Amino acid sequence: MRPLPMSLEPIAGESLVSYLLRLAYRLSLPPLHLARMAGWINGPRHNPLARKLLLDIAPPQAEAFARLTKLTTEEVAALTLSSWQHRYPPVARSMPDRAGPSWSDSWLFTTSPRFCPSCLAGDGTAAQRLHGGPWRKIWHLPVVFACVEHQQFLLHACPHCGQGHSSPGPLTHRMNDNTLHPAQCRRPLAGMSAPGRKTPACGGQLDDPAAVRRNINPRPAQALLDFQQSLLTQLTPSLPAREASEYFTDLRLIAALISTSWPQGRHLADAGSAEKIDAHIHNQRHGTPGVPRHRQLLDPLPRDPAACAALLSAAQLLLDEEDLESVLSRFARAAFNSRPSRTPWALISARHQDTCSERLRTAAEPATRTFRRTGGCRGTRAPVRDDYRPEHIAAFLQPDWYQRHLARFTGMPAKIVRRTAAVRLVQWATGGSQGDAAAYLGINPGKMQFKAASGTRPWAQARFQPAGLDAALRELAAELRTPRQPLIDYLRRRQALQEWALDTGTWEALVSELAPIPGPVRPVVNDRKRQDASIFVWTQVTCGEHLFAPRPIEAVQPPHIQLEWAQRRNTTWFQLSRPDPLRHYADLRKALTQYARQLARDIDAGRPPAN
Ligand SMILES: [Zn+2]
Ligand SMILES: [Zn+2]
Repeated sequence: MRPLPMSLEPIAGESLVSYLLRLAYRLSLPPLHLARMAGWINGPRHNPLARKLLLDIAPPQAEAFARLTKLTTEEVAALTLSSWQHRYPPVARSMPDRAGPSWSDSWLFTTSPRFCPSCLAGDGTAAQRLHGGPWRKIWHLPVVFACVEHQQFLLHACPHCGQGHSSPGPLTHRMNDNTLHPAQCRRPLAGMSAPGRKTPACGGQLDDPAAVRRNINPRPAQALLDFQQSLLTQLTPSLPAREASEYFTDLRLIAALISTSWPQGRHLADAGSAEKIDAHIHNQRHGTPGVPRHRQLLDPLPRDPAACAALLSAAQLLLDEEDLESVLSRFARAAFNSRPSRTPWALISARHQDTCSERLRTAAEPATRTFRRTGGCRGTRAPVRDDYRPEHIAAFLQPDWYQRHLARFTGMPAKIVRRTAAVRLVQWATGGSQGDAAAYLGINPGKMQFKAASGTRPWAQARFQPAGLDAALRELAAELRTPRQPLIDYLRRRQALQEWALDTGTWEALVSELAPIPGPVRPVVNDRKRQDASIFVWTQVTCGEHLFAPRPIEAVQPPHIQLEWAQRRNTTWFQLSRPDPLRHYADLRKALTQYARQLARDIDAGRPPAN
C-alpha cells in the first residue's frame, strides 16, 4: 500500500471519525475509500465502519492507517477513546474483546456524539477553514454537556433534520459520499427515498452560527461551566486514573439513584432544571412499559445537554453530602419498596463495586445490604464454612460436581438433588435461612408460571434428605478449597442477566446465519422463540434452571398471549434440550451455545450486556 499523495495533521482531541471525514474531504475521496485502503472494511460493499475502531483500534489496522496517512501509530491511537479506559470506566466496559461482540455502555455515545457548532466551524486557521474543525472525542462522553471554550451547551441533534438521537447506528453515515463537508449532517432524509436512487443526505450545516442561535438551551451559567471543567480535568493525567475512575463510577451510581427515585431529589435542582429532569424521567419510564416502578433502574444520562447537566449537578450535590450513608438510604427507601438487597440499585451497585470509591461502597451498604452480611441484626445463623464463597455456587448445582459427589443418591430426582445441594451450600457459606439461600440463588417458586411435571415441586418440599447427603456435600465443599478449575462468580452472571433477553438485532443475526432448511416449510422465528432461545442462553450462562429464568419478552405480552406461550413452552424447550433434536433446533442450539459462551466470558471480564 502506498501512502496517500497528501495527508492532514490531526487536531488535538479529534476523533477517528473526525479525522477520516476531514482527510477524505481534503482528498475529494469518499471516506469509505480511505477506510477500505486502510483495511478497516472488508467484505460486502455496504459494511459499516465497526464501532470498535473508535474505542480501540487494533495494531494492524492502526499501522495500515499510519502508513497510508504518514502519521505515527501513536497519533492514530490518539484518535480513539482508549486513552480514557482506565479513567472513564464505560470506555473499558464497551471495549471490544477483539474476537467477540462489543457492548455499548449507556454512559458512552459511540454513534451519535453531541457537538459544538462553533468548534466544528474551526478556529479560523487556514487548514480548519478549508477542511473543517474537529469532531471532538470528548463529545462521545455523556458527562460532557457543554463546550467550555465557546461557553455554550452542546447540541444533541441536527438543527435541520432533527436527527441524532441516541439510536444505535453506524459510526457515520454516507461513507460513500465525497461531496459532503465534515461539518454537514450526513444522515439520510427519511421519506425522500425513490426506487433505484440513493436517499439524499440532510446536508444541513452543523457549524452554522444560526444553529447556535437555534439552540433551545440558553447559555450555561458560570457555575455549570466550572463544573464541566472539573469533569474534564478528571479525564486528564493531572489526577491519578484510579481516582478519576472511582469518581465517575460514584457519580453514575448516584445519578442512577436520583433518576430512579425521582422526584425524591427534586430539591437538588432549580425549577427549570427540575423540569428538564422531569421530562427525561418521563421518557425513560415510558420506554420500559410493563416493568413496575420499583423494579426499574434508570441509568442512562439524558441526551438533552441541559437536562444532563442538571442531573449530574444534582448527583454531585448528593455526593458532597457529609452523611452520605443516611442520604443514600433515604433515597433507596423512596425508590424501592422491596428489601435493600433485591433492589435494582443494589444490583447496579454490585456491578460497579470494583470501580466505585471505598467511601461510596461503605455508605451504600445499608441501602444495598447483601446476603454476605450475616448474623447481627436479623438474628440469623452465622456461616459454617469458608471453603468457598456463595457466589461460586450455581443455582442448579454444577453438573460435574453433581456427577462426582451426588449422583449416587438415586432415591430423589436429580433435579431436586441439584437444587437442594445448591441451597444447602449457599446456606453454609452465608448463614441465614434456607429461604434466604434460595432467594439468593434466584430459586423462587412464585416465579414459576406453570406447574406440571413432578420435578417442579417446590424445592422446600425436598427436605426429606437421604442420609449421607450432607456428608457428601461436606466432601464437595472441602474440595472447593483447592478447586480443580477456577471458580466462577455465578451471582454476577445472574445479576448481569436479571432482566435479560436476546435483543431483536442479535436474534435476527443469529437466525440468519443458520443453514437453510430444505423444503418449503420455514421454521418459525418469532418473539416466542426468541424468548425461549433467551432462556436457553440464560440457563447456559448462569447454570440455572429454565423454570427460574427471566422472561422479559413474555412479560410485556397481553395475558392471552402469555397463556398461549406458556402452553407451548414445554414443546420448544423439549426440542432445544433433547439429545436428538430436529435439524433446525440442533443448529439453533449450536449457535445459542456459542453465543452463551461468549456472553459468559464477557460478563466474567466485567462487560455485562447493556441494560
Ligand atoms: Zn466549542
Ligand atoms: Zn440533519
